[in-house]
Amino acid sequence: MLETATAALPDAGEVAQQAARRRVVAVISHPDAGKSTLTEALLLHARAIGRAGATHGKAGRKATVSDWMSMEQQRGISISSAAVQFEHDGVVVNLVDTPGHADFSEDTYRVLAAVDSVIMLVDAAKGLEAQTMKLFDVCRRRKLPVITMINKWDRPGLDALALMDEIETRTGLVPTPLTWPVGIAGDFAGLVERRTGELAQFTRTAGGATIAEEHLVAPSEAEALVGSRWGTAQDEIGLLEGHDQELFLAAATTPVLFGAAVLNIGIGRLLDVIVEHAPAAEARRDTAGEPRPVDEPFSGFVFKVQSGMNAAHRDRIAFIRVCSGLFERGMTLTHQPTGRPFATKYAHQFFGRERETVDLAWPGDVVGLVNANALRPGDTLYLDRHVEFPPIPRFAPEHFQVVNARDTSKHKQFHKGLSQLDREGVIQLLTSQLRGPQQPILGAVGQMQYEVVADRMTHEFNCPVSLEPLAHTVAQRTVPAAQDVLGSESNVEVATGSDGTTIALFPNTWRLATVRRNHPDLELAGLGVAE
Ligand code: GDP
Repeated sequence: MLETATAALPDAGEVAQQAARRRVVAVISHPDAGKSTLTEALLLHARAIGRAGATHGKAGRKATVSDWMSMEQQRGISISSAAVQFEHDGVVVNLVDTPGHADFSEDTYRVLAAVDSVIMLVDAAKGLEAQTMKLFDVCRRRKLPVITMINKWDRPGLDALALMDEIETRTGLVPTPLTWPVGIAGDFAGLVERRTGELAQFTRTAGGATIAEEHLVAPSEAEALVGSRWGTAQDEIGLLEGHDQELFLAAATTPVLFGAAVLNIGIGRLLDVIVEHAPAAEARRDTAGEPRPVDEPFSGFVFKVQSGMNAAHRDRIAFIRVCSGLFERGMTLTHQPTGRPFATKYAHQFFGRERETVDLAWPGDVVGLVNANALRPGDTLYLDRHVEFPPIPRFAPEHFQVVNARDTSKHKQFHKGLSQLDREGVIQLLTSQLRGPQQPILGAVGQMQYEVVADRMTHEFNCPVSLEPLAHTVAQRTVPAAQDVLGSESNVEVATGSDGTTIALFPNTWRLATVRRNHPDLELAGLGVAE
């Protein structure tokens, strides 16, 4: 049936080998912890780029490779997720970018479904911040192994032991440092290499634009160089557990590294740790819990749909994580939810704004498929042997706004645009019983999603919209059968999502409590993260 691709299947050994040398990672952090700087520094070290682009300081910063949408550039935050690929010591690292802003946590959630381990980046002066914890919770649910990087050690910050204590109490992961700082935050005299006991010292380079040269000093000579700070570092690290690969993979411990991304300090070590310790791409479980071995025919799933990456083309790209087999451009795959064929004539790999056509991809790689209007986050694509990977959980909306077309004659564009944005997962489109289809309600996890909607409706769908917050802020999931009863209650709105879920909206918790009292049999449940 799908001859073109079947004829070219590689031998299973090669697929397994390629999978074994792939690491799929994402960085989780709170905004400003230094994620973009770290990404640049990693690429610099892996020699994927010649010079780190950061000029340090958001406003005047040259765009980094992972910041490319104009909205991102204006705001200095990452909204969209792209993956960058680089090679280090024979290992291919696919670094999937995560939007740092809390309002885009749903996108981040999807990205985390596509990776095999994460780097938790912590600002040494701030410890575990809100967004880091929120993202960590997602990792915990997926039991993703976590490598911790304490950043900005060149600046005054918290005590290193206190940071370890915070990690252990708040994440439950036992910190197992691989390096330890010599000198307190802001007085950075080098790092103890736990493995060898050596002192690693770094030469700062102007603006962190090039790799910081590293000098290794034997333990016997270290004290002469850094004084009593050497003994202190030894005493401190002696209090902490050592790395255990099995416990790390079981998400019970987290190896910890210290550094300063902006000065390129500690980055080379982080790369080595990714190569040595991060798990390789392995068999992924399907909805029935059965693993699909990496050497089976191609399979993958969409973890992100992105529009407008190229303003000239208004194209829509679905990012696929390859789970098994060889991906070859031109293959015709089966789109699992519809059973329809999907042609992969236009497949790309992305490097920030640059894209290049990809001809081959292996398990663990990320491929962008162009013209992917039919694909939604979570959809499985496969070749030959059917597989369905588990859906990606959606975040429950916490904000609701009513949307209207400014020009009512543009109803076609209005509906087309909104349903497209809903399909991409930019927003959740709800039809209210009360208002009807001309005045849908948009559910969002974060307010900023509405700005994306307004922007894209104007520029992409040529239909400017007005948005008005709904006075209803408490949402409950219910069943379609409850619609009539709820609809007859004053001040309660019932709306239906495009996936058929019924949501009841209340102005406040008191109103919800009253309705519950009036109708004790009604099925009403808090939204929570939809699993
Ligand atoms: P993001 O929001 O997490 O992507 O953070 P950025 O990479 O944009 O960094 C936020 C700010 O912290 C920028 O001004 C960086 O120059 C600065 N920064 C990043 N890493 C370091 C570091 O190691 N030391 C110091 N002192 N500043 C850093």
